[in-house]
Amino acid sequence: MTGLCNLDAVLDIAVIGAGFAGLHMLDRLREHGFSCHAYESATGVGGTWFWNRYPGARCDVESLDYSYLHDRELYATWQWSERFATQPEILRYAEHFAHRRGLWPHITTGTTITGAAFADGAWTLTTDTDERVRARFVVTAVGCMSAVNTPAIPGLARFGGTVLRTSRWPAEPVELAGRRVGVVGTGSSGIQVVPELAKTAAELVVFQRTANFSVPARNRPLTQAERDAAVAGYEQRVENARTTRFGHPVTGTGRAALETDPAGRTAEFDKGWARGGTHIVATFTDTGRDLTANAVLADYFRDRVREAVHDPETARALTPTGYPIGTKRLCVDDDYYETFNLPHVRLVDLRDDPIQEVTETGIRTTRSDHELDVLVLATGFDAFTGALTRMGITGRDGQLLADTWRDGPRSYLGLAMAGFPNLFTLTGPGSTMVLSNVMRAIEHHVEWVRDLLVYAREHDITEIEAIESAQDDWVAKVADLAGKTLYPHTDSYYLGANIEGKARVFAPFAGGLDAYRRICDGVANEGYRGFRTA
Ligand code: NAP
Repeated sequence: MTGLCNLDAVLDIAVIGAGFAGLHMLDRLREHGFSCHAYESATGVGGTWFWNRYPGARCDVESLDYSYLHDRELYATWQWSERFATQPEILRYAEHFAHRRGLWPHITTGTTITGAAFADGAWTLTTDTDERVRARFVVTAVGCMSAVNTPAIPGLARFGGTVLRTSRWPAEPVELAGRRVGVVGTGSSGIQVVPELAKTAAELVVFQRTANFSVPARNRPLTQAERDAAVAGYEQRVENARTTRFGHPVTGTGRAALETDPAGRTAEFDKGWARGGTHIVATFTDTGRDLTANAVLADYFRDRVREAVHDPETARALTPTGYPIGTKRLCVDDDYYETFNLPHVRLVDLRDDPIQEVTETGIRTTRSDHELDVLVLATGFDAFTGALTRMGITGRDGQLLADTWRDGPRSYLGLAMAGFPNLFTLTGPGSTMVLSNVMRAIEHHVEWVRDLLVYAREHDITEIEAIESAQDDWVAKVADLAGKTLYPHTDSYYLGANIEGKARVFAPFAGGLDAYRRICDGVANEGYRGFRTA
């Protein structure tokens, strides 16, 4: 624990989570004189960057964009070393921010909120350390990808070797050199960890259920000239945060793939592939909304897999098919495909050869026994809703959030829920979340919630709650926007399809951060339209 609050007192605001959202929220609230305190499960700050410390973990948004912009001096002085920052460097950045803003005494770490109940105009939080915290308002900053998904693979508990999760990687060094390692899962985490593990493991077996689309990062050190240019362009970057769909500009050709001749298309895709990173998907205007155009981009990626992987059978298995590119999060890698050319690395295509069970000594698939010393689960998260529904939140009249969301998340603006007064969810389901640069989404939410709480204080408002009809309209809008995209074509965590029994509902707001921001501004400017106050 790094700090304790007076548990007998009623806080103005309790913040749950001390990742980038929680730290910024806490700072802004303190700046405005609120009594507030943050609670964090981890033994340090940094949220996802505290937990996901697996080898090879790094951000897929460029460092100069994956930075706080609200702190100009920090932006000007922090020296990112690489184009895509590693997990340790991002964690240091979060810790540095907490020190710089004097936040540590106002954060209780190593403490999980296990219940939150609203009664008599205030929230009572209970913790896994048997403490109770009273607060008039609660702001959750629990992240979109924090509730770990442990797959129901038969026999997992019986494995006699070491089980590691990318999403809960130990802080102390793990000895993997010379060991037989299996990795289950080939999403962003699996695709990042595999090339790193291959460097030391005696054998590496990758168990793949769905082949993903992945683009090379082309990571490299940042030059001082690049950092200086970013600082010089700070105002423009702030402006871009307000006016662009993703919170940072993504420039393409402005042309449609289907109106460009094949040689011209390939030439443009080649430039994107050589540049590295996810911007390649924006090369043409139609690949995100037209299945025929999308297939052109997908085929380009498939050709790159066949080019990189020597063994034709492995290349076939690694080639993504059956869903449009971009409808699952595009992965960003460092030599992922090339790793499968190494003699000690094998792919098991679970579509052809499914897992039967985990045994004491490895994984048994239909066709083979794979003997392993270490099993790495890179099997993802109960995204967007899991951290909230697992927290035991009960609102007005004792309604449990997990029950209220049984058929899918329902929120107003992704920020508040009818029946749950004085509770605000930073990057909650129904906001842009991971469909924009999440740093920009966080900063927008923090400022918006801060303004609302200041407004409430100035207007002697003790209760503020989303109105059911406003929430219904928002839920319908989120669904309508999703319906205009290609996302619903694919089973993905965007739809909750990775979690057995979870309602199949597309959770993010797909209209862009710029449009989302304008709507939220409109709501605030009209005296918090869609909220009931008392
Ligand atoms: P993920 O994208 O959900 O991938 C999970 C993987 O596990 C998938 O390949 C999935 O297969 C597989 N899987 C799940 N259950 C399984 C089972 N029972 N048997 C076999 N395979 C199973 O999770 P993630 O890789 O942790 O990434 C989640 C998100 O976190 C990313 O999309 C990204 O937003 C964020 N992230 C970002 C970075 C970065 O910034 N570079 C890095 C890591 C994560 P199916 O596809 O068949 O379900």
